[in-house]
Amino acid sequence: MERSPHLKLLADARTEPDLLDYLIHSLEDVCSRLADKFGLHDRAGRPRKAFILDSLFRLSCPGCLWKIFTQTRPHNLNIDTLYGEMHEFAVNLLIGTLTQTLDGEELNVCYEDAHEYGRADVAIKSTRFGAVVETNGACVVVEVKTGKKLSFAQLFRYLLQYRDATLVVWRIPMRQVFTLKGERLRALLCLYVSSAVARALKLLNGEPVACNHKISDGGASAVSEPQRVLDEFFEGLVEGLPKVVSAVFESLREVGL
Ligand SMILES: [Zn+2]
Repeated sequence: MERSPHLKLLADARTEPDLLDYLIHSLEDVCSRLADKFGLHDRAGRPRKAFILDSLFRLSCPGCLWKIFTQTRPHNLNIDTLYGEMHEFAVNLLIGTLTQTLDGEELNVCYEDAHEYGRADVAIKSTRFGAVVETNGACVVVEVKTGKKLSFAQLFRYLLQYRDATLVVWRIPMRQVFTLKGERLRALLCLYVSSAVARALKLLNGEPVACNHKISDGGASAVSEPQRVLDEFFEGLVEGLPKVVSAVFESLREVGL
């Protein structure tokens, strides 16, 4: 039985270190072409990469992709500001705590600027001379989740952005902290990117496709029980903060910083 090109990719990813770079290059190319085709640019005229990639990763049906790329925006406007505040508060506390704890090390804790793939919440960068060689120079990146939702599309997008960094995910209400390393997930990243490129090419080369699926907008709805949400949040914050800090330390130690 002949192996499908997709499965062959999993084996190739282990032996060909440049495969992921090649696939990402293709992904960026189809991304700009999709932006041109569907008019998906931001105010500065740049392709809305984070949105396009998220959609390509998240939706496996070409009809759904066609819908999301042609529907009127902006969506995601119904996010309750309470979640926004909680998120800002948690990121603020985390940056403060990490800055204090890492004081004196050759490390810089920063609120990350928006990059073309979107923005992670906190990035820890080495300031040691010559150490900043990889993309954006981040060695550990923390993503803070104040709600229960979690998007693999978003996490994988960050793994592509910070390919050599450890991604620490902090889910506050669940009191969970876990880490992901792009390096260990390279074969899956290759497969994920290659599927997204294939879908994009279908949209670029084909006719509009119809389907009966309903796309969820992914936005959080209004908070109906603020007391419970906030209690859970503040308790989770106190319990989780030391866990995140030690996860960051562990990740830094692993890369010898
Ligand atoms: Zn569909």
